[in-house]
Amino acid sequence: MSNLPSEPEFEQAYKELASTLENSSLFDKNPEYKRALQIAAVPERIIQFRVTWENDKGEVQVNRGFRVQFNSALGPYKGGLRFHPTVNLSILKFLGFEQIFKNALTELSMGGGKGGADFDPKGKTDNEIRKFCCAFMRELNKHIGADTDVPAGDIGVSGREIGWLFGAYRAEKNRWEGVLTGKGGSWGGSLIRPEATGYGLVYYVQHMIQYASGGKESFEGKRVAISGSGNVAQYAALKAIELGATIISLSDSKGSLIATDDKGITAELVGIIADLKVKRKQLTELANSSEYKNKFKYIEGARPWKECGKVDVALPSATQNEVSGDEAEALIDAGAKFIAEGSNMGCTQEAIDIFEKNRKEKKGEAIWYAPGKAANAGGVAVSGLEMAQNSARLTWTSEEVDEKLKGIMKACFANGLETAKEYVTPGEGEFPSLVAGSNIAGFKKVAAAM
Ligand code: GLU
Repeated sequence: MSNLPSEPEFEQAYKELASTLENSSLFDKNPEYKRALQIAAVPERIIQFRVTWENDKGEVQVNRGFRVQFNSALGPYKGGLRFHPTVNLSILKFLGFEQIFKNALTELSMGGGKGGADFDPKGKTDNEIRKFCCAFMRELNKHIGADTDVPAGDIGVSGREIGWLFGAYRAEKNRWEGVLTGKGGSWGGSLIRPEATGYGLVYYVQHMIQYASGGKESFEGKRVAISGSGNVAQYAALKAIELGATIISLSDSKGSLIATDDKGITAELVGIIADLKVKRKQLTELANSSEYKNKFKYIEGARPWKECGKVDVALPSATQNEVSGDEAEALIDAGAKFIAEGSNMGCTQEAIDIFEKNRKEKKGEAIWYAPGKAANAGGVAVSGLEMAQNSARLTWTSEEVDEKLKGIMKACFANGLETAKEYVTPGEGEFPSLVAGSNIAGFKKVAAAM
């Protein structure tokens, strides 16, 4: 699977997928897919490059840039760029590998890839980030294109960075093409793209709740714990609030905000947090403001899962491995019934095993877990819709894009559910495994195309 000394994140993602395929009837029914899995585990191409740029003091800086072009069986490589000091090849290979099967689940024509740099936007000025983006694109432009590889954002790369990257691409190539998604609305971006991952996550969980309750329940009255405070967390919170839920928590790398009154974290507060994040500020700023202090408690250095109190739905939406085995147990004790990842590989394997064990044993009272490659596919799905609009030189309305997003999330849920029933016979009264079903459904499509 890997020939490098240590690729822990990639190995974790590979084993998670492979174990669900091996424990199903997939390889009995399609023996040739065993070989397809070994082949799919090796990226088609990895580009690694040096990025040199100048800070505001005029000093030359250096970073490592990467693009992992993992699989193009279903379409151009597609997946985000992550700018974060932890970025390395293991992390980008895990993200690229996940992306292949996530993109397949959207049913749109997209292969899988991922890229980024070990550049830390925190503490940098806008000018420095712009210079970094231009330097990064000076090399990346040679390897991407609207029909070759179409990057987008991920952690540390939002609409503003996409703008700088897109401008640099046009300058290098003297060509306007839909080479990046997540662009601004006035220069080729799709409406609803910023909202898409968070909205899509909530649409997906809506289907989980409806299925589990036989159509009797919805988000109305549910207590929802969310981690993270970036784009995914913000829009998941806003959509859940719109559907009648109460948001119990949000967090960042320094700590968690836990609501202390019945209203929870309101849409107004989410707006204030969004403004803070644009300025690359931390939640500590809010925790210290006299105006908001009494609306929540701020717990430094903690993730929300052990702190959030009674909860119905948990949406990890910050980064990988943000729910440990202990935290999974704490969520179950707190009453959580639905766990769905807004982040990629948000749960450790220990946490997934605990959720899956509870799904099997508790039957109708089960904990039901949805993996990121299904639950957070809404972001890349609307990226796919942005590519379609760019190719057609058209712009769809928000309503049109939102309807399509809803349809894709519904199909994504139904596909995982039905595939699980077909390949892993659930016990009497047991909910089908959405992890196994989504992994098998995504993989099958890619393997057949390969
Ligand atoms: N970074 C997002 C993801 O993990 C979106 C990728 C894209 O839109 O290409 O799916």
